[in-house]
Amino acid sequence: MEISFTGLRALVTGAGKGIGRETVKALRRAGARVVGLSRTKSDLDSLARECPGIEVICVDLADWNATETALQAVGVVDLLVNNAGVAVLQPFLEITKEAVDTSFDVNVKSVLHVSQVVAQQMIARKAPGAIVNISSQASQCALQNHAVYCATKGALDILTKVMALELGPQKIRVNAVNPTVVMTDMGRVGWSDPQKAGPMLNRIPLGRFAEVDDVVNAVLFLLSDRSAMITGVTLPVDGGFLAC
Ligand code: NDP
Repeated sequence: MEISFTGLRALVTGAGKGIGRETVKALRRAGARVVGLSRTKSDLDSLARECPGIEVICVDLADWNATETALQAVGVVDLLVNNAGVAVLQPFLEITKEAVDTSFDVNVKSVLHVSQVVAQQMIARKAPGAIVNISSQASQCALQNHAVYCATKGALDILTKVMALELGPQKIRVNAVNPTVVMTDMGRVGWSDPQKAGPMLNRIPLGRFAEVDDVVNAVLFLLSDRSAMITGVTLPVDGGFLAC
């Protein structure tokens, strides 16, 4: 399925590593002009070297005011991927205030905030747009030590649906993808231990974790006109995990 984003401009958060980084590269290959936003400058520098022509923004999305300032300069955006996320794993009885605050700041509040800024600008231009939020299978299934992460992704799923409801009349589509484990830096923290990975793999009908490209392909589909009639969905990219 050939997808072209020629003539469109995309903003990807969490562009420094993992899924976000590969999303930037895929969007660039598909012809989009891309802005990659992340927190670690060295990651953005190496991404810009690898992907000539992209623009980068270095900001901590947990800082609402700094994000607001950074986004004022971002200009036209047609496609937004809210990918940045953190996973702080703690047993329920040991959850700290810091873990709750950081997780909700990045995984929920920054998505709302970045999307507000971008959607306001789309509406002012009377331009259609597409937003994809990177959620997780954890939004819909309880996972050990993932209480805060699960809660943020559950919030993100319903935020996605309300955004789809309110922004649909402005021709802005909003969807989420909900991956199973992907062996990025984040995935390795939670799932490198074979004793944890084994039981999870046993619950995935396709018998493997997702590759980064499995997620990126779903993101590109939901950003593209190939999904022109799709909004408000939470699309599992999970080898069947949530179906069972
Ligand atoms: P990584 O940890 O590999 O990459 C996350 C990226 O987001 C990094 O570049 C990171 O920057 C950036 N980021 C995190 N916090 C902030 C912040 N406050 N401000 C700006 N940038 C920030 O994660 P993945 O690629 O694995 O995850 C991407 C998304 O996919 C997340 O939303 C995650 O919840 C979701 N997901 C991941 C799964 C997995 O198993 N990997 C499974 C299901 C969903 P820095 O390194 O500088 O902090």
